[in-house]
Amino acid sequence: MNVIEDTTVWDNSNIYSSIEDTKITKDIELINGMLLGQEENSKNLTSALSRWESLDIEQKKSLITIAQDMTSVSLKMLIPFYTLNTFISTTISVDSSNDIAKTLRSKLGKLGAEMSKKYSSLDVFLTRLDDDLIESFFNEELECKRFKISLLRELKDHTLDVSRESLFQGLSTDGLHAWGKLYTDICGKLTCEIDGSNVSYADAASLTRGSDAKKREQAYRAIQKSWSVHEESAAAILNAINGWRLEENSVRSDITELHYLDVSCKQSRITRETLNSLMSSTFEKRSIGQRAIKTMAKLTGKDKLGPWDLLAPAPSKTEKKISFKEAIDTIEKAFNRLSPEMGAFARMMYEKNWIDAKPSKYRSPGAYCTGFASVREPRVFMTYNGSIGEMVTLAHEIGHAYHNWVMRDLPFMETHYSMTLAETASIFAETLVREYLFETLESDEDKLDIAWQNGESAAAMLCNIPARFEFEKSLVEKRKGQTLTPDELKGLMSGAWKTWYDDSISEYDEMFWASKLHFSISGFGFYNYPYLFGYLFSLGILSQREALGDKFNEAYINLLRDTGKMKAEELVLKHLGKDITKAEFWMDSLKLVERQVEVFESLS
Ligand SMILES: [Zn+2]
Repeated sequence: MNVIEDTTVWDNSNIYSSIEDTKITKDIELINGMLLGQEENSKNLTSALSRWESLDIEQKKSLITIAQDMTSVSLKMLIPFYTLNTFISTTISVDSSNDIAKTLRSKLGKLGAEMSKKYSSLDVFLTRLDDDLIESFFNEELECKRFKISLLRELKDHTLDVSRESLFQGLSTDGLHAWGKLYTDICGKLTCEIDGSNVSYADAASLTRGSDAKKREQAYRAIQKSWSVHEESAAAILNAINGWRLEENSVRSDITELHYLDVSCKQSRITRETLNSLMSSTFEKRSIGQRAIKTMAKLTGKDKLGPWDLLAPAPSKTEKKISFKEAIDTIEKAFNRLSPEMGAFARMMYEKNWIDAKPSKYRSPGAYCTGFASVREPRVFMTYNGSIGEMVTLAHEIGHAYHNWVMRDLPFMETHYSMTLAETASIFAETLVREYLFETLESDEDKLDIAWQNGESAAAMLCNIPARFEFEKSLVEKRKGQTLTPDELKGLMSGAWKTWYDDSISEYDEMFWASKLHFSISGFGFYNYPYLFGYLFSLGILSQREALGDKFNEAYINLLRDTGKMKAEELVLKHLGKDITKAEFWMDSLKLVERQVEVFESLS
């Protein structure tokens, strides 16, 4: 049986007929025209902001009209802009050799940069406007911006004057972000020598996820060796990025101190208290992750796993393949157990050709969910070859799509959620499918496959992700007083691994600070804990299923619908009556993880 035969490719022709559709150029011109029309407004606002302290109430009130006009136009501009962006990037995902799409992408990128430049004064204005005047900014059309503006205004004390804000913006392109780009450039050119032949970094990394244990270790050692050659550059990147951020935070600390974790918590829309509860609960229960690693070692006949074994697939004897149609059937049935609407949604994604999963020559690696803002339709991209793991990935992405789908009638501006909440629906969907498979699969070997995946997630989430957080925190602390040498970075990384893995593995990955790209993403610091948050958060929601019974599905949907206009704490309090600033919430989730690991242990 050819498992990929019934795999779908997406149909996006309702958006543009093709990448050569003349409507694309027309839409870009339309956006450009709207942007040019804001030139005058932008100038007026900027000049008023430079005399802010001397403006009286009446003058500030007259600026509100300008701000309303600019915001209203931006709402009209963003829909075609996001739609174009999605259409172009989905085209490139299935065909990375498409030059027309790549040219359009760079045109759109430039347009986006122009937009943020013209609109930077608006953000500063909305942040600074007096508390008793901001209310008069909102009207029926602009009400959808209320939550976003309230988040901006929380940063009031840390917002600089327009000239310094735009100076930071301008310098960061060739400063902060150039370091992030250097990292990506090194990765792109990095080769690893395995068995006498040179393979790309991406291929070597994919070998560390393969079933051949010897190849995994070889690939891991080769990656370490290649990064050692570039360790000075990799260290310079981390020193520069973190040095920049510390300096920027100190410039923004004139009125009150801006702590580096506050920056991250604001981006994640959670409080420091919640972050502390999450991390300390996980620390208390890190042995659950270590137990999962020990069970994986036992199953592979090893004394201890090496860092190269942490992403290995289950050691199954039969290579069972699942056709795409079967995968959709399974996902539909698993979702149906929560609600018929969710099951029907998975079926619809398939029938409407909203999923592109057929292997092809020039496609990008990875999996993601996206959507067209103009018609509010989701799309899923991945490459499907028929494994259970890929079926679970498919469920994960359809979970994201479902999240967007239940929000489709809300104003577009109220549908953007933070990274911490982004993984809720996807991990939830994944868990539904794993539960269903575990209960319906007959052979112990198939069950073990699922239990292995649960164990591997537990190990990654309760040991690896926290070790990354721990490392990054010590790096930033130390960077306050000095730059760090490669050896010091290795020491910090080994220390972090020791804290979280202890003796559960044979050695620590001391080059992880270089090989893991997350530390060198210039746009965000502390990019890792949101994964742990999403994982435990979705399990925390799941653990409410029995308590809420028939009411659970409604509460779940309402929670998803509010993810774009509430902080995580308010969201959970409102819909589930739980307090995520307290350890108890996270401990309930960790109990579910422990149960999964117990099942894994008993099957081994
Ligand atoms: Zn995801």
